[in-house]
Amino acid sequence: MQHWIQGSVKRVLSSSSIESKLAILADAAKYDASCASSGSKRKSSGGLGSTEGMGICHSYTPDGRCVSLLKILLTNVCIFDCQYCVNRVSSNTPRARLSVEEVVRLTMDFYRRNYIEGLFLSSGIIRSSDYTMSQLVEVAETLRTRESFRGYIHLKTIPGANEELIERAGLFADRLSVNVELPTITDLKTLAPEKKRDEIEDTMGRIHVRREETAGDQKKGMKAPKFAPAGQSTQMIVGATQTSDRDILDTSSHLYRTHRLRRVYYSAFSPIPHADSRLPGTAPPLLREHRLYQADWLIRFYGFDANELTTPDQANLSLDLDPKHAWALANREVFPIDVNRASRELLLRVPGVGERGVKRILSTRRYHAIRDEDLAKLGIVYRRARPFLITSDRHPGPLSIDSLDLKQKTETKQRQLMLFDAMGSAQNGQV
Ligand code: SF4
Repeated sequence: MQHWIQGSVKRVLSSSSIESKLAILADAAKYDASCASSGSKRKSSGGLGSTEGMGICHSYTPDGRCVSLLKILLTNVCIFDCQYCVNRVSSNTPRARLSVEEVVRLTMDFYRRNYIEGLFLSSGIIRSSDYTMSQLVEVAETLRTRESFRGYIHLKTIPGANEELIERAGLFADRLSVNVELPTITDLKTLAPEKKRDEIEDTMGRIHVRREETAGDQKKGMKAPKFAPAGQSTQMIVGATQTSDRDILDTSSHLYRTHRLRRVYYSAFSPIPHADSRLPGTAPPLLREHRLYQADWLIRFYGFDANELTTPDQANLSLDLDPKHAWALANREVFPIDVNRASRELLLRVPGVGERGVKRILSTRRYHAIRDEDLAKLGIVYRRARPFLITSDRHPGPLSIDSLDLKQKTETKQRQLMLFDAMGSAQNGQV
């Protein structure tokens, strides 16, 4: 990403000062994972570009980060001292700051040359929440109103910024995100005492209310302007503290339920130079991030409750097995289930059966009973699903489901593949 940006800047701008600022600020922004640019429709009426159809294509770095956006910080100067962050006030990292006009110019230059489809803009805290937020909003407002920019805009929203600034941010940005940063209030108090969970959630709550109000007005046929049409998201850092996956998923569920977030992004902690001794010296395994995305997917789309996927004794997700597979092995009394009679909800709990497979099962069994040989044709991972399913011509029997080697029998062989799975997990946690 860094290399790509530097090459592009050379073609776009002659100013070496902008180039060096951008090198610092694009690098500083790479720690923010919450930038998937999906789910927004903004009509193109004479302006430049579009977020729809061919106008927007997602491309991701191997670790799942979106690269189709110009992803930068306005500045990495920050008055806060969050211990896990390289931009904290006590860090001696090189600093830079772009002006509103410089960000607007860069975005338009890159956009006109088709290098980017949009902008992801965040910032360290300069002076105060309101001052920082006003700068971010000014960039978005200038792009939309003066430059008629119709590409995607994701604005980081600063917790505690005033109502009027959030209102304007939602009018000009497609997506807003407020970072919850760490999974628990205790974690925040320990590593980022200037950040308050109440303030973070209050800002999320205000965005949620405004989105609901706008949707309500539109339902009544009123011509209300859109407010953050791609919704709001957040990012949680994983592995900076000892907090378990159980607590992380509990926080995510709470945020989805209470503030109707579109996504929670999980970002594995990256060790930083001269870090506080309370921080770990190594990053957590990438697979942990991937498992959290899979569990998150199960909670959002497969009807699982966060607490079902771990137990108080086993509070972290298994790294060996995907969370649905691990749940099925721990709850064998539920299986085997009859593929010709089971409800959609139960079928979704079978390892190796995804949403698409369930859809196919439901439509096929309306016409004929599903036999063992049909399973693979329905897009089901046969080897994994077989011991958990009864078909019209086969019953696996109690001995099969209780066998001690069921884990080995149903495990995915290609462990290496999990690395490739992990690449796409920020977009798709399907299991
Ligand atoms: S407020 Fe943001 S940029 Fe500033 S130290 Fe904390 S995490 Fe880093």
